[in-house]
Amino acid sequence: MSDSGVTTRIAALEHRLASLESRLCRQDELEAEIALLKDRLTDYEESDRSAMNRAISVFWKRVRKAEGCWEWQGAKSPSGYGNLTAAGRTWRAHRFAWIISNGPIPPGLYVLHSCDNPCCVRPDHLTIGDGKENMAQAKARSRLASGERHWTVVNPENVGRGDSHYTRTRPQLIIRGSDHYAAQFTEAQVVEFRRRYARGDISQAELARQAGLKTRTMGKILTGQTWRHVPFPEDPAP
Ligand SMILES: [Zn+2]
Repeated sequence: MSDSGVTTRIAALEHRLASLESRLCRQDELEAEIALLKDRLTDYEESDRSAMNRAISVFWKRVRKAEGCWEWQGAKSPSGYGNLTAAGRTWRAHRFAWIISNGPIPPGLYVLHSCDNPCCVRPDHLTIGDGKENMAQAKARSRLASGERHWTVVNPENVGRGDSHYTRTRPQLIIRGSDHYAAQFTEAQVVEFRRRYARGDISQAELARQAGLKTRTMGKILTGQTWRHVPFPEDPAP
């Protein structure tokens, strides 16, 4: 090979090396940026969680708990529904009560009062359904029926209990796992925790540390006390 050929090759290789080094440098920058964004996300999630917790305590202070309905004591709309301003937005009080007791409201569904009392926020007086049920309920009942006229007394067979409770008749409406507003993990991550633990090469405490959980909380995930609906990996090996 001629001298000039070697020089050309050296120049080409040096050029390539410089380009790879600059890409490596860019990768470091990107990783730093990702780490920063992850931190920021965690901060936001924490502040969102604590805003929600504050909202929940404000909410309960404005509820008068009684034998029957738990009536909202705060602001009300002209139609009698409770209004709550918390965590940076305005909520219908009964919808808020549903969310903090059951998780997000499935899209397209309404939170309905089985007691027909718009300002009631008692979680077990709330059900979800579509608009049609709402209309039918309003027609079937006279507003503000109480005592012996209350629908649970007039039509006790309509009270959803046991096998006719909505959690049995429409189990798809139960908010579970990663759909729950407070969920930190996805189903896939839960499967992965259980798989790694079943393989036996990592302790519960170490898994908990990596996931940022208390050992006890991880223990509940691993034994299926929580995330019960996620099937256990049949073969932990892969
Ligand atoms: Zn009620």
